[in-house]
Amino acid sequence: MARKSVRDRSARGYCSRSVAICLKRLGFPNKEAFQAVRKLGDICMKASFCIWLARNSISWNQGSCNLVPGSTSVPTPLLPKVTSPQQQQQHQQRKPTVDKSYSHPDPEPPTNSTPAKPTLAGLINKGNTCYANSILQALSVTPALWSQSASESSFVSPLAKSVLLTMSLLSKSTPVVDPSAFLRALQRKMSNARNNPFSINTQQDVPEILPHVLNELTWPSVIANNIITNKVTTTISCNSCLLSSSREESMSILPLPVSNNITGSIKAFLQPEYMSGNDRWMCPQCSSLQDSTRETVFTQCGDILIIQLKRFNCIQGRSVKNNKFVSCLAQGHDTLKVYSHPAEDISFTNQYKLTATINHSGTLAAGHYWAFIRDQGVNTWLKCDDRAVISVKPSDLDNSTVYVLIFAKI
Ligand SMILES: [Zn+2]
Repeated sequence: MARKSVRDRSARGYCSRSVAICLKRLGFPNKEAFQAVRKLGDICMKASFCIWLARNSISWNQGSCNLVPGSTSVPTPLLPKVTSPQQQQQHQQRKPTVDKSYSHPDPEPPTNSTPAKPTLAGLINKGNTCYANSILQALSVTPALWSQSASESSFVSPLAKSVLLTMSLLSKSTPVVDPSAFLRALQRKMSNARNNPFSINTQQDVPEILPHVLNELTWPSVIANNIITNKVTTTISCNSCLLSSSREESMSILPLPVSNNITGSIKAFLQPEYMSGNDRWMCPQCSSLQDSTRETVFTQCGDILIIQLKRFNCIQGRSVKNNKFVSCLAQGHDTLKVYSHPAEDISFTNQYKLTATINHSGTLAAGHYWAFIRDQGVNTWLKCDDRAVISVKPSDLDNSTVYVLIFAKI
């Protein structure tokens, strides 16, 4: 029991007092011994989290480990060497299959199979905190953020530390986790913003809160920051004199128009826009309002692509929600292909797989959030609705409540 207790506390960043005593006896000054103990605690917490991320890796079960310190992603399973026919048979049984879990034309899992036991704990709703729970649950399957930020800097902010702590607790056998540490850290972080009436127990808009969390997780690391940074260049050209003006913008969350599917949303985002009437551009060369064309291209796509569907529009001063049914991917496609330019033949492309969605029902003032996440170990999907975590069919992801989508580059 004592060993289990120490292990659990280590997962929370606790380093035994005997380590400090040992360092002092070895001649370390008090200050340096204290700093070393704090650093060891951080390393314990990060190591615990990395172990959880790799919990389903076949290579770990084979006694070999491909988790390299400073690696940028969660270790992918290494297949064991196959020698004898018996081992070959075992190898075939273990060999990961091609991931098509969310491709619509694929047959759904057989109904007579035993549903996989969810591998993630639920989160307690502390009173209108479903927005925070859905963020934590969606980010739990975004390992590129954690491994990179943890290896790049020894400094972790209180909010980032609370996220890491909650993540490590989610992997425990306990069915439900209390997110209070994260909520307190979020409250402190948001209280620092000027003119902010933020209260953790009131309904919040996930796309407003999420960038603050992402920023805390990635700011110490340039590399980690690049993981979620998409650069978008907008060029406005005068249709009369052909003068053009470009502006590049970095976005960690990409706001896209609502379409039948995400491929359609990206195409609509990149579609050149003809600006006339009240939308005419003040051309500096013509010194007058001119009809113009606005073109948008991606100049950089991050390893993690986070998309917000613009479901809320302001019409005559009122927030109106678009409840259009959205497929998370185009029909017949297993991955999301993102072209940098509307003309595909001159584009660079990136391919992504969907890892999580955050869904919303109701209005901005009164609604409910939950998340769908890809359970990477058993390659199924989980619906995480506060403390309720259940396995679902891939087709359940397509609906009228999809609001935020998180993709990982493949
Ligand atoms: Zn002009």
